[in-house]
Amino acid sequence: MDLEDKELRELFALADKIGNKRYNKLTHQDFENYRKFDFWRYVNGDFECGTTQESRDWVNNNSDWACPICSEKYSRKGGKTVDHKLPRAQYPWLSMEFQNLWVICRSCNKEKGEMHWYEYERYMLLHYPALYPFIKTVRPTNLLNALKS
Ligand SMILES: [Zn+2]
Repeated sequence: MDLEDKELRELFALADKIGNKRYNKLTHQDFENYRKFDFWRYVNGDFECGTTQESRDWVNNNSDWACPICSEKYSRKGGKTVDHKLPRAQYPWLSMEFQNLWVICRSCNKEKGEMHWYEYERYMLLHYPALYPFIKTVRPTNLLNALKS
């Protein structure tokens, strides 16, 4: 466990360093994508956020009846939300990158908050060790690798 924890800390530090470097070179398109997500995202029963048919279809095609993290029915956990695995606040250029999106319940989304992915893995490892193996399988490996180049 210590080893894995150490590995996560190092990965987090690395990703954070790379993220900060890219953050300073944000383009106009990055900001457009960041804003686009506000009109695109789907939050169950929340019409103020500008749900579109496109986002609704995407959510339906990319979710099951239960949240992949807590395995509870969405209806019991505040509904479906689209989460950015790599937080939008830190990685605005990944706002509309579909590899970065997944559907989780509102409750799990709230708990994940603005944690960086590796920070989140570490959090899950410490607080929900039984769920950690699953979280590891949904790590956005391609995106994290792409950040390095
Ligand atoms: Zn959940």
